Amino acid sequence: MATTLLVLALSSAGTTEPEPYKELPHAQPQRADHHQPQAPRDLPPKSGPHDPYDVDDPTIGNLDADLLEAVQAAASDARDDGVPMSVTSGWRSREQQQRLFDEAVDEYGSEEEALRWVSTPDTSAHVTGGAVDLGPTDAMSWLSQHGSDYGLCQTFANEAWHYELATTPGGECPEMLPDGSSRS
Ligand SMILES: [Zn+2]
Repeated sequence: MATTLLVLALSSAGTTEPEPYKELPHAQPQRADHHQPQAPRDLPPKSGPHDPYDVDDPTIGNLDADLLEAVQAAASDARDDGVPMSVTSGWRSREQQQRLFDEAVDEYGSEEEALRWVSTPDTSAHVTGGAVDLGPTDAMSWLSQHGSDYGLCQTFANEAWHYELATTPGGECPEMLPDGSSRS
């Protein structure tokens, strides 16, 4: 008896048809998934991946020269270890940074909370070419072990992907800040 009821419950649960997808005439795909429940971002802001050797791409080419050299060396050695690495986000214009900040304010509901994840154009190291977001996940793990060999240090405890040139190659990285708001 109990078994029959369970089977009935399972079979009816699987029969719900999804709503057919209706395309709006002027849908904006970039913002389509914007109103999700608020949760800490576990991925860097949507961008990339960018090839760290593609210097014609302003994301890469406008990076600080020493930072770019360090990232290229790390990416090359990571690849030799079987770990592909790409730049998810590098240099950003002030306009791009402002847009990301405005989106974060929408997403998190206040400037104060947004500042924990996205800096303003005045404080972001991305705007000056002094920061890179690297990925994917395996590359972040690789960097957490080997980054300092290249002078690359994770800056914020809540952003496993965000690296800056913060020590001499082989030196010790400074202690991480809790999040981006600690700097502004
Ligand atoms: Zn970053």
